[in-house]
Amino acid sequence: MSGLPRFNPYINGESVPPATGQYFETVNPYTAKVWAEVARCDASDANAAVEAAWKAFTTGDWPKINATGRGALLRKLGDLIAENAQELAEYEVRDNGKLINEMLVQCKYIPQWFYYYGGLADKIEGSVIPIDKAEMFNFTRHEPLGVILCITPWNSPLLLLAFKLAPALAAGNTVVIKPSEFTSTSTLKLMELVEKAGFPRGVVNVVTGFGAEVGSALVDHAKVAKVCFTGGTESGAMVYQAAAKGLKGCTLELGGKSPNIVFDDAVIDDAVKGAISGIFAATGQTCIAGSRLLVQDGIYDEFVAKLVEFAKTARMGNPMDTATQVGPVTTPPQYQKILSYIDVAKKEGAQCLLGGGPASGPETGDSPWFVQPTIFGGVTNTMRIAQEEVFGPVLSIIRFKTDEEAVEIANDIAFGLAAGIWTQSIKRALKVSAAVRAGTVWVNTYRSLSYMSPFGGYKKSGLGRENGIESIREFLQTKSVWISTANDVPNPFVMR
Ligand code: NDP
Repeated sequence: MSGLPRFNPYINGESVPPATGQYFETVNPYTAKVWAEVARCDASDANAAVEAAWKAFTTGDWPKINATGRGALLRKLGDLIAENAQELAEYEVRDNGKLINEMLVQCKYIPQWFYYYGGLADKIEGSVIPIDKAEMFNFTRHEPLGVILCITPWNSPLLLLAFKLAPALAAGNTVVIKPSEFTSTSTLKLMELVEKAGFPRGVVNVVTGFGAEVGSALVDHAKVAKVCFTGGTESGAMVYQAAAKGLKGCTLELGGKSPNIVFDDAVIDDAVKGAISGIFAATGQTCIAGSRLLVQDGIYDEFVAKLVEFAKTARMGNPMDTATQVGPVTTPPQYQKILSYIDVAKKEGAQCLLGGGPASGPETGDSPWFVQPTIFGGVTNTMRIAQEEVFGPVLSIIRFKTDEEAVEIANDIAFGLAAGIWTQSIKRALKVSAAVRAGTVWVNTYRSLSYMSPFGGYKKSGLGRENGIESIREFLQTKSVWISTANDVPNPFVMR
């Protein structure tokens, strides 16, 4: 035993050691030190979790709790998350190195998902169909799917889980969660609150470990009805293929290379802040990063000069320090990936205007995983640095002349998660937001999200929508019930 805190999977309402008896280390990206050990689960733990969730779905207390009762449980969980937001945020920061400022804002906001979907739980109404057949009564019921598998990534573990967990439970499903191997601890802490809220055993389960080992065993499990995945496009495509083999539903929230478009009538200082928040907030490790900055010719030089000056002031440092603005990269593979893209950009001929390499110094502490906020100018949209997701603090600036050209460049990409538009013209804002092929468009703002507003991707950025009223439909299936009111049964050889 190492003496480090140990985190076990949470299966059927209990924290149990993994079948393998093995644990892996979880590292604090700022101290570069191992701070805890997490269970390395295998297919047998995956099976136990799914069986527990299936049992809870079909028998026991959960199916007996009515929709209003489910809503009350969700709201209770929301209250408990609000009370424990600081502690949960600190677990997230220890695991992913993102700023306490950001994770605390997220953890304080997460209860809203449980209040909103808790309120929606008893408003899932079927309809009576004014059916065209004589002496027949027909109505619909919207029923839960069964066991929902939630696979979450390392950048915002609890927030991205809330997108899935709250509507899945509100609809009456049971859940198995597989967090990223890099950030399992906050999800396991959340299970203490799930238990305290009074959810019956087996309704929510967590299996930890590696995607290829335990994640794929969960996706393949015959009793999983649907997979809700947030992560990279490659892993998402693998999960989608595996789910398709079992004819399971899939919601995928994947990568992005979002255009942030600054027109020459924009309020320049606002747009500079918008560009900064699009790429350097969260150290660029966000699917909605505005990593392609499109700037109109007339303001290009002035805008880029101001942007570089502003970016130079970004304070790197300890993510637990509330004055820090840019923290370390979360994982060593991600750090390597970011540096390799910086290399690619330089080789492609992009002009490095700021940063362009690893960062070190007293502010980076013991972490070997800081990258300088990096800005490339002179990028063309065919370069790899303009087309591929870096998921780090690396901005590519592309110059454009006309509105049509901006839209063409914005859409000339495999992704379609989000886009930003900076303009004072309402006509331009409406025209361009309609023309850009992305699931979310922000005008004169960036990175705004709410439990109320649908979120998801066009093209390779994903399938389905999270958040908002419509996302509860992703967790329901419709049953049509026919009741004959006729006094006799008609000719059985003819369709009625
Ligand atoms: P992944 O997409 O591989 O990980 C996301 C989640 O999927 C993790 O829980 C992971 O588990 C799990 N997973 C991976 N493979 C499988 C599988 N075959 N079956 C089931 N589950 C699986 O992210 P990476 O950490 O590898 O990052 C790769 C790239 O993805 C990043 O560089 C970034 O570009 C993008 N990304 C996008 C995110 C987003 O918000 N859309 C979030 C994170 C990354 P495990 O961690 O144990 O492998």
